[in-house]
Amino acid sequence: MTGGKIRDLARACGFELAGVAAAAPHADAAWYRQWTGLGYAGEMRYLTDRRAGVRDDPRNLLPSARSLICVGKLYNTPWPYSTAFDEPQLAWISRYAWGDDYHEVLRAGLERLAGLLREHAGDFQWRACVDTAPLLERSYARAAGLGWIGRNTCLINQGSGSWFFLGELLVSLEIAPDAPPPDRCGTCTRCIDACPTQAIVPAAGGTRYTIDSRLCISYFTIELRGGIPEPERPAVGPHVFGCDICQDVCPWNRRAPSTGDPAFAPRHFAPDLARLAALSEAGFRDLFRHTPVTRSRYAGFLRNVAIAMGNAKLECFRAPLERLAESPDAMVAEHARWALGRL
Ligand code: SF4
Ligand code: SF4
Repeated sequence: MTGGKIRDLARACGFELAGVAAAAPHADAAWYRQWTGLGYAGEMRYLTDRRAGVRDDPRNLLPSARSLICVGKLYNTPWPYSTAFDEPQLAWISRYAWGDDYHEVLRAGLERLAGLLREHAGDFQWRACVDTAPLLERSYARAAGLGWIGRNTCLINQGSGSWFFLGELLVSLEIAPDAPPPDRCGTCTRCIDACPTQAIVPAAGGTRYTIDSRLCISYFTIELRGGIPEPERPAVGPHVFGCDICQDVCPWNRRAPSTGDPAFAPRHFAPDLARLAALSEAGFRDLFRHTPVTRSRYAGFLRNVAIAMGNAKLECFRAPLERLAESPDAMVAEHARWALGRL
């Protein structure tokens, strides 16, 4: 089985990018430990608990694994970037969360790929992984030739940019690995300069950069369960779920292609903040059912909506914020009071 054949089969399963890496420890494992050791994972315990050690070797996930087939699925759509967006009454949701939950879409594609491989290579063992598995997926995707890891820490493909979901098929087949491409960030620092919270920081002991999650808007609005630190709230701007700025400004995304997959078409592009603030918990679940947005949970989402309203500084948000300030959830109420103070 050649890399070219793998790419053909992956394309037939809806993956624009595919390549092969050896199922062996990756040098980035030490770098990852340093990253968590510095506290950059914030409160994301799933990155630092016992699963951290599993990341040392993909064979911890499938002992018979010999190769990783790394795939990328484009999710870009022809809608504007957040950096071209200036509608204070509307909310910004990160591009990756506009459509269906990618976990299910990618898993279905990987299972199909395993089936096609079996037709060509006979019986073998496999395991499909989509970002929930403890695996250094960007590092292996780079090793498999899918792209380089940019200063914004995203995997960037020279021809297609960085709007990709990554997935992996661990297989017991021995397949010749691909080679990583060169780093093409050059002297560019656009993502570092554009980050509203200066979350992209130099990694210790090198020219590489990393993200201090404790400063990142994506972390605040998706992962953090408690209150968002007050000094950071103004920089959150209109973001109610995630942040795309460091990808929007990347020159490699200037001509990024769009997907034709209807799964990732926006269901609610830039929804109205007042509408979001009025959602009941059931209404929140209904509106964002089967999209990644439910990860923030209802209270976290209302917290984000309150901050975005405070940052919009529109008088028309006074009444909805006063209602949120009466929320039985103390965190939501506190963020709404903070936002009222900004009007
Ligand atoms: S996602 Fe936003 S806040 Fe986080 S590093 Fe990128 S630009 Fe900065
Ligand atoms: S904006 Fe520039 S430095 Fe940042 S990832 Fe893109 S090319 Fe690299």
